[in-house]
Amino acid sequence: MTSRTAIVLFTRDLRVHDHPALATTCAAFDRVVPLYVLDPALAGRSPNRTRFLHQSLAALREALRKRGGDLVVRHGDPVVETVKLAEEVGAAGIALSADVSRYARRRERRLRDDCRRHRVALRTFPGLTVVEPGALTPGGGDHYRVFSPYHRAWSGHRWRAELAAPRRVSLPAGVRVGRLPAPPAGESPDAVPGGEDEARRRLSRWLPTLPRYDDLHDDLAGDGTSRLSPYLRWGCLSPLAVANAAGDRGSPFVRQICWRDFYYQVTDAFPDIGARAYRRGAAEDWRYDDDALAAWTEGRTGVPVVDAGMRQLRAQGWMHNRARLITAGYLTRSLGLDWRPGVAVFFRWLLDGDVANNSGNWQWVAGTGNDTRPYRSFNPVRQAQRYDPDGAYVRRWVPELAAVDGRAVHQPWRLPDEVRRTLDYPPALSAPGSDPVWLR
Ligand code: FAD
Repeated sequence: MTSRTAIVLFTRDLRVHDHPALATTCAAFDRVVPLYVLDPALAGRSPNRTRFLHQSLAALREALRKRGGDLVVRHGDPVVETVKLAEEVGAAGIALSADVSRYARRRERRLRDDCRRHRVALRTFPGLTVVEPGALTPGGGDHYRVFSPYHRAWSGHRWRAELAAPRRVSLPAGVRVGRLPAPPAGESPDAVPGGEDEARRRLSRWLPTLPRYDDLHDDLAGDGTSRLSPYLRWGCLSPLAVANAAGDRGSPFVRQICWRDFYYQVTDAFPDIGARAYRRGAAEDWRYDDDALAAWTEGRTGVPVVDAGMRQLRAQGWMHNRARLITAGYLTRSLGLDWRPGVAVFFRWLLDGDVANNSGNWQWVAGTGNDTRPYRSFNPVRQAQRYDPDGAYVRRWVPELAAVDGRAVHQPWRLPDEVRRTLDYPPALSAPGSDPVWLR
């Protein structure tokens, strides 16, 4: 009997545990070629994410080597390189985790066409979400547009079984593995490192704090959320495994994982999420002001909680969810600027930046998305006072204000003139002609 070979094409599923494409292929074929293609089309998008990707690839290679295999690395167009390798090794099949972005879907379509021409079977697998996009649909619609009913259906749905890592991965003889370049520098000095082992360690360390999640998750200074988002983004962790580890499906933490799935199924149905308003009839009368956008981007708007968030983003390639809500709300609702440049700035810096979650959340904040109350009012000072009550988060990230005690730090414009003059901090920026309540 001739031995059968298949390729597992990795994309943003950089793990060996609970990896349906890898587990199924290892069980069904004698020889398996785990492949990653470094795609120049994706290379320049975010130095932070490129660094995280390279670290995660190195870790994946290690994990595969421990199982007798390796990670085969190629550079170029993933479709061309995958099909070329399939010919070289005589692969009968290619396995791939299904993804929802416009780019990923086009890649899959092209790969499917080429596979057909070369008589190679292409099969896609779940793994990027807990519940596959499209698996749950409301009566009369192709996807859920509102979160709460989606959450109910998602919690009651039968999830797939979690899969063990394959014990052995057997490469065909003679395949050139290819070099993995050293991780590039990235832009954020305090960015966390990528990799599955790192991710699993962080998950185990964080899980004991889970019972306090509901109390802590909105506390900016307390910083008590899991910080697992970059590892979920790159598939160093399986979202199903994280949800299972958390246990209670109805818990506030697992609900956040559901938000992630929610935006994937929205993006699957509406791939234009990064470019066009999702909500029909959404008012889009934005202003365009390069100076204001630059001040926001660089964390020098003069609104302390906003500047703190944007500086955390630049330092760590990550920002607390509450700060993301505040900074995005300030850009769109207070300054009246278009959400799309905001999406682009986040997308450049965030280790967890992805089309579905970044654009989906931005549209929610901007009122063009799936919020059932798109015109809710927004007050950055009230938000700061509520979620950073003694100002510790602001003082951590805005050293110019380190000498201002307590919650007074949220409104430097209210400090006595003689104190304000000593601070090297700009006056607060607001939309021209506006007289916002929070600035009084
Ligand atoms: P935890 O609170 O520990 O939550 C656990 C996991 O649930 C997260 O890791 C994440 O995968 C998921 N999750 C939590 N909140 C959300 C949410 N609102 N939407 C979708 N998934 C969620 N998240 C991204 O993963 N990528 C993005 O590009 C992204 N952009 C955002 C942009 C804006 C304007 C806003 C308001 C939110 C954005 N989020 C994004 C969602 C959220 O801020 C982050 O997922 C969260 O802060 C990550 O920190 P954590 O892992 O500690 O989260």
